[in-house]
Amino acid sequence: MPTFVYMTNCDGCGYCVDICPSDIMHIDTTYRRAYNLEPNMCWECFSCVKACPQQAIDVRGYADFAPLGHSVRVLREAEKGTISWRIKFRDGREKNFVSPIRTTPWGSIKGPAEYAPPAAAAMASQDLAHEPEALKVGALPTLARNQLKKGLLQ
Ligand code: SF4
Ligand code: SF4
Repeated sequence: MPTFVYMTNCDGCGYCVDICPSDIMHIDTTYRRAYNLEPNMCWECFSCVKACPQQAIDVRGYADFAPLGHSVRVLREAEKGTISWRIKFRDGREKNFVSPIRTTPWGSIKGPAEYAPPAAAAMASQDLAHEPEALKVGALPTLARNQLKKGLLQ
């Protein structure tokens, strides 16, 4: 479900380039407009869609689960602190949601540079950086071998 850019709406500001976690939104050097250079690496995270001040980015749904005729539109309004979603189904039904841009106060989340560098032993761990402290749990929940059962799907 990769993104694509409506070239006539894009003004080349580059916000989508800065925010894309997959680094696939780029500015075409000839046309000075953004484009998705590797659609199959799109996370479908909608970050670029929400960040674009021109509403120039859309997400193309794959036909198996997002049939022709549907649409998902997103509007980020920083001054209101909200993101509005409009979901249209192909039978005409529509659902609208409004959610806060973030649920924690601005400045309350430390940046990566404010954390101490990980110890060398952390390279051998499957935990992500600063887990489990960042999740505020003593230890990550894991399944013990005796909690796994064979044949559940039979
Ligand atoms: Fe990048 Fe996410 Fe936009 Fe895909 S939806 S292009 S991963 S920001
Ligand atoms: Fe174009 Fe929107 Fe990307 Fe800015 S954020 S470069 S307007 S697609």
